[in-house]
Amino acid sequence: MERIRKRKHSSVKPPKSTTIAAVGPPFLDYLRPTAEECLSVRDDLLSHHGFPQEFLKYRNRRMRAKPYQNTQQLPEEDGEEIETVLDGLVRTVLSQNTTELNSERAFASLKKAFPTWENVLAADSKCIEDVIRCGGLAPTKSSCIKNLLSWLLEKKGKLCMEYLRELSIEEVKAELSLLKGIGPKTVACVLLFNLQLDDFPVDTHVFQIAKTIGWVPPIADIKKTYVHLNHRIPADLKFDLNCLLYAHGKVCRRCAYRKVDRKSKEETDGNGSCPLLAYSGCSTVT
Ligand SMILES: [Zn+2]
Repeated sequence: MERIRKRKHSSVKPPKSTTIAAVGPPFLDYLRPTAEECLSVRDDLLSHHGFPQEFLKYRNRRMRAKPYQNTQQLPEEDGEEIETVLDGLVRTVLSQNTTELNSERAFASLKKAFPTWENVLAADSKCIEDVIRCGGLAPTKSSCIKNLLSWLLEKKGKLCMEYLRELSIEEVKAELSLLKGIGPKTVACVLLFNLQLDDFPVDTHVFQIAKTIGWVPPIADIKKTYVHLNHRIPADLKFDLNCLLYAHGKVCRRCAYRKVDRKSKEETDGNGSCPLLAYSGCSTVT
């Protein structure tokens, strides 16, 4: 029997052919990191740096939101407004390939120029580009945001993504991976920070650390590292470990740089302490 799949005609750009959710673990025989190692690294980084201030509000929110599932309404925070999922997603899109400072400026500038998402959708792309230019890649990010808003209006009839709070991790990944410009790291950040779900985003710092301490095989690229680490790291450690590794990667010159950079940094830094280098000698490369 021939099946004919009808497709809705849409002004929104078509979905990508692959979804994040469809990708399976790439290195099933590679047995690092172990659960014990993850716990040990978490504890070592906690005692070395303390929990990073920048992520404290998200950590407190997760603790208040437990149990994660079946939480219809997040508890009140201390006078602080909880960021909407849509705000969080756009903020994360603006953070791609730029510094935190520049992406924060771009987001604030966007909100100031266009107080509502309806205003953004109605605005000319060039106007959006102008107000987010300080965050870099303005044409790409402007197009991504407009495309997201158009898709949302068409799909849900309103510019609101709170419905994602009712979905599972895999459902959120499948939903968002349909959108152009929304990659695995962006989705993982929204899962972790806006939806209080357990995922493990891999940015360049986390990627380099994972390579240095042998948590992935040398051939792993950033996408496979994301899938592998999500497969290996226990769910209840993902949030803490991700925040700690990210923060460590921003300050450590011994484990978070590419090989060529690391060599030169090691020469200048001498024996600067890094609690993670103790883990680099136990690689089980296959
Ligand atoms: Zn380090």
